[in-house]
Amino acid sequence: MSSGANSSGANGSGPAAGADSAGTAGGSASLAVDGLVAGYGEVIALDGVTVTAGAGSITAVLGANGAGKTTLLRAVSGLIKTRRGQILLADHDVAGRGPEQIVRAGIAHVPEGQGVIPELTVEENLRVGMMSWRRGQRADRAAALEEEYARFKPLADRRRKLASTLSGGERQMLVIARALLARPRVLLLDEPSLGLAPRVMAQVMDLVVRLSREHGLTIVLVEQNARGALAIADHGVVLNLGRVVASADAATLAADVALRHHYLGF
Ligand code: ATP
Repeated sequence: MSSGANSSGANGSGPAAGADSAGTAGGSASLAVDGLVAGYGEVIALDGVTVTAGAGSITAVLGANGAGKTTLLRAVSGLIKTRRGQILLADHDVAGRGPEQIVRAGIAHVPEGQGVIPELTVEENLRVGMMSWRRGQRADRAAALEEEYARFKPLADRRRKLASTLSGGERQMLVIARALLARPRVLLLDEPSLGLAPRVMAQVMDLVVRLSREHGLTIVLVEQNARGALAIADHGVVLNLGRVVASADAATLAADVALRHHYLGF
């Protein structure tokens, strides 16, 4: 993946950015999940999970298969109902809102598995990211697309090609660019490095850092690759069977030999 740096903010408050009672999209915002309980039928997948992601920071969410990482992102983005707890975006509780409202409030979710729509062109896929815009002229949308094409040059070259023709790294770029077009303040990334070659994986991690450091986006990064995630994160949270078993700055977690051995696999 090559992704040229761009002067315009990923979280820029474009004229079309959605706004609601949780605030106006654009600018940094913290995310604080407090005592979250969620699951599937009888299965309690999150049992009182508390995670705080500071505005503009990278928080790695780690843990073995089935720990509850994906469920946490699904609950925050409104894809599954929460049973208890708060999800504070800045100071506003968005728990219980639907996925569309959550996107409008400023939280974008890139699910695991590179969810491009293969039958659509690259540009048509990107336009899906602007569906949450309440207003915005054609020119605003065109400018927003150009902003992402400047950030992700390979997408610009392939804008009229079907998404099915893209490589794994390009697909990952496409889903991240699509999420950025929703003008989020918080970006939830579920295993963005999954299935990518090491070189491309490193480029994805580099992009994550730039979105946080240069554009002030608050990023929650779910990763199986704990070592790689902790290398770029400010803070880390380790889940096991739906509970937080460790929460500390990333360097402290990476230096904890017992924790690495028991939960992180390195
Ligand atoms: P992985 O890395 O394997 O995706 P994870 O940490 O993301 O693991 P989750 O996918 O959140 O874990 O799963 C947490 C728990 O919820 C597990 O016990 C899992 O079996 C269960 N679970 C996940 N999705 C469903 C579902 N659709 N229906 C029922 N149970 C589910």
